[in-house]
Amino acid sequence: MALDLANRPPTSTDELRQVCDDHGLVRELPITDDDLGKVERAVGEWLAVVDAADSDERGRRVNAMTEAYCSFPTLTDHAGTGWHLHYRPDKITVGHQVGAMMAAGTALHLAGRGMNRLGRCAVDDCDRVYVDLTRNGRQRYCSPACANRDAVRRHRARAAR
Ligand SMILES: [Zn+2]
Ligand SMILES: [Zn+2]
Repeated sequence: MALDLANRPPTSTDELRQVCDDHGLVRELPITDDDLGKVERAVGEWLAVVDAADSDERGRRVNAMTEAYCSFPTLTDHAGTGWHLHYRPDKITVGHQVGAMMAAGTALHLAGRGMNRLGRCAVDDCDRVYVDLTRNGRQRYCSPACANRDAVRRHRARAAR
């Protein structure tokens, strides 16, 4: 979800609603313009996590987000869909909820797979973000399309030499 929000920032409450629906975010409060601003801010904080110079800085930036958005984990069956963990308080705005999801999701991802499992696409004119879920942890591109584009470019560069 963080990836989607960063690569396609919502510009209206309708677009934000669509992203929330795409990711099955169960909302407790309606989406407002205020949420749009909060999400924009959380995305900015998350991009600073992505662009952190090293693991220490990345860890600090994630911790700043969990401190701002998350609470201690609680077991809940609020939607009647099965018990699961929340890393946020109850009855919070959608903007806050999205921030908590980005913070907790990223903390779990980095702790589980490695601190380097986030980055910007290696294609020069592409600044999209990738979240590396590969087995070997070598992802460098945002998409297969960019990986292909770069392979073609490198091939041509070699051929021109
Ligand atoms: Zn839930
Ligand atoms: Zn790309």
